Amino acid sequence: GATIGILGGGQLGRMLSVAAARLGFKTHIFEPGANPPAGQVADHVTTAAYDDENALKTFADSVNVITYEFENIPTQALDLLEVHCPIRPGREALRVSQDRLTEKAFLQGLGLQTAPFADITNLESLHSAIDEIGTPAILKTRRFGYDGKGQARLRSPGDAETALADMAGAPSILEGFVDFSHEVSVIAARGLDGQVACFDPGENVHRDGILHTTTIPARLSPAQRTDAVLLAANILNALDYVGVMGVELFVTPQGLIVNEIAPRVHNSGHWTQNGCAVDQFEQHIRAVAGWSLGDGQRHSDVVMENLIGYDMDRVPELARERDVALHLYGKAEVKAGRKMGHFNRIVRKG
Ligand code: ATP
Ligand code: MG
Ligand code: MG
Repeated sequence: GATIGILGGGQLGRMLSVAAARLGFKTHIFEPGANPPAGQVADHVTTAAYDDENALKTFADSVNVITYEFENIPTQALDLLEVHCPIRPGREALRVSQDRLTEKAFLQGLGLQTAPFADITNLESLHSAIDEIGTPAILKTRRFGYDGKGQARLRSPGDAETALADMAGAPSILEGFVDFSHEVSVIAARGLDGQVACFDPGENVHRDGILHTTTIPARLSPAQRTDAVLLAANILNALDYVGVMGVELFVTPQGLIVNEIAPRVHNSGHWTQNGCAVDQFEQHIRAVAGWSLGDGQRHSDVVMENLIGYDMDRVPELARERDVALHLYGKAEVKAGRKMGHFNRIVRKG
């Protein structure tokens, strides 16, 4: 059988491995850190750094296709890997989404709405950006941010200096604060043949910058639902994308505003594991393996809740509940703020 290579051994890589195994594939994880969660379920693990050229080459030669669970893969590693093996989703999706500035320019180029933004290189450019965009605003590092890390909020222009200091010299972007009523995301998939399928949009609530719950269905009018799905398809088509992507949206009276895109399976898509015949992980594996996309129709309403850090203490109680499906990541050490697992509560109707 074919082997799927996965860059990154976290919980997303783990759940991709499980989905791949169900379809009869073998998986090979490439991960610099020791004892990755995906290593417990994959067929092979390579523990090596992204600048280890021999390890990258051996990995690429041992697999039939390479995919990834995170977007910050170093460019040099990709240059080396792609000589030996196809990488899906492709390089363009990574290039665009690795940098918030590139990403916003790309989205605006498609005619989509984003928060107003400006490139920040020093205090002077920050002051002129504040003059233009106003406050409240959010300063974010252009690269490597996740779970709200690398962000500083500016309530007034007087916050400029401390916010810039928080960026620790990293290239940054100032975003105008979007006055949204709620946040939704579309988990969209595109096959090798260009077929696009979107899961039902979910409504996301964050706590301390980390996703807390995703509720399906989201509060959206039929027109907003259509907009959300069409704009996601627009993004995937523009990138000639193959695989699953998470598209985060702000809902406002002025329409849907794209917050960011993630070229991979997404935490806000975990509900699909218990709400659809084919979940986001299987859909991603199908796409990168060149299969037809599966049936992602929602058969149940679901509330997904993340188990962060010591939320793990709730597991014995959750395990006794009806209509609760637990998904735990097998991480050895519980740490505050660490994603340890999630559960899907199936909402039965009638
Ligand atoms: P993720 O873990 O989703 O990758 P991230 O660290 O990349 O998160 P963002 O998604 O950019 O961060 O921001 C995190 C949250 O902060 C958003 O979901 C939203 O609630 C809020 N936020 C971010 N940018 C804005 C904005 N311009 N206006 C209003 N709220 C915002
Ligand atoms: Mg992000
Ligand atoms: Mg986000």
